[in-house]
Amino acid sequence: METLEALKSLKERALRELAQVKDLEGWEGLRIKYLGKKGELTQVLRGMGKLPPEERPRVGQLANKVREELEEALRRTRETLAREEKERRLREEKLDVTLPGRPLPRGYYHPIHLVLEEIKNIFIGLGFAVAEGPEVETDYYNFTALNLPPEHPARDMQDSFYITSTVLLRTHTSPVQIRVMEAMRPRLPIRIIAPGKVYRRDDDATHSPMFHQVEGLVVDKRVTFGDLKGTLMTFLRQMFGQDVGVRFRPSYFPFTEPSAEVDISCVICQGEGCRVCKQSGWLEILGSGLVHPKVLEMAGYNPEEVSGFAFGLGVERVAMLKYGIDDLRLFFENDLRFLRQF
Ligand SMILES: [Zn+2]
Repeated sequence: METLEALKSLKERALRELAQVKDLEGWEGLRIKYLGKKGELTQVLRGMGKLPPEERPRVGQLANKVREELEEALRRTRETLAREEKERRLREEKLDVTLPGRPLPRGYYHPIHLVLEEIKNIFIGLGFAVAEGPEVETDYYNFTALNLPPEHPARDMQDSFYITSTVLLRTHTSPVQIRVMEAMRPRLPIRIIAPGKVYRRDDDATHSPMFHQVEGLVVDKRVTFGDLKGTLMTFLRQMFGQDVGVRFRPSYFPFTEPSAEVDISCVICQGEGCRVCKQSGWLEILGSGLVHPKVLEMAGYNPEEVSGFAFGLGVERVAMLKYGIDDLRLFFENDLRFLRQF
C-alpha cells in the first residue's frame, strides 16, 4: 500500500505547488513535472504492471482520480493566470483618452504662391492658357530670338548667371514666347501666360537673384495696341481694384515695338505721394509692347500678316504692393512669423 500513500502525497505536493505558481511559464513547468510523458504521475501509472495483481484495481482507481483532480486544478489555475495576465496588460496598456492630442501644425500658402494663383486666375478668365518653359535656357532663346543679338548693348541690361558661354539661367520668362510660337506656328491665335522663376545677379532690399515673372503673349491677325491696353487694364483693375489709375509710358524693350511701361496709381497713398511711390503717386507695375516684327519673323510668323502684344510683370513686386511689404528678402527667408500672416 506504499503506492497509495505515494499517490496521495504526490497529489498534495502538486496542489501545493500549483497554489504558489505565479505565471503561465511556471504553470507549464508543473504540468510537465506531474502529467508530462516523463511526469511523476505518469511514472506511477506506468509502474502499475509491477504491482501485485490484487493491488492494481485500487491503485489504478486512485491514480485515475488523482490525475482527474490534477487536470481539473491545472485547468482552473490556468484560467486564473490567464485572467490575471489579461488584467495586468489592460492596466499597463491603458489609454488615457482625456490626454490632449498632439496638434498637427497648420500649413500656409506662401504669399508669392497666392499672388501667382490670383494672376493666373484672372488671365485664365480672359481666355489665356498657361505655358511653361525651362529655367536653364540657351543664349538663343533668352537673347537672340528676342531681338538681342550677341553684340546688342541691351544685353548689358541684365547681368546673368552663365553655365557655359551659350547656356544660362533664364533672365526673364520671355523665352517661353519663342518656344510657344515655334510649337504653334502657323496656328493662330496664341494667347498664353508663362509664369515662372527667373535669375539675375542682383541682391538687395528690392532685388533678389531669383524671382518670379509672368510673361504674357497674344499673337493673332490684327492685334492692336488697343487690345494690349484693354487686356492689361482689365487685369490691373481686377488685381488692384476697379478704381486703380492706369497709365502707359513710352519705353524701350528690344523685343517689342512700340513699347510701354505700365504704372498704376499708388496703392499706398492713392496718388497723393508717399515714400513707396517716391512722391510721384504712381508705381511701375509691368512692361509691355507690340511684339517686334523681327521676333515674329524669327519664330516663323509673317509680320505682314500677324501681329501681337506681349507683357511681363514681377510677381514679388505685385505681392509687395498688394500686402504692403517693403523688403523683398522677406519672401525668401522662410521666417514663419512672416509667412503665417497670409
Ligand atoms: Zn504713394
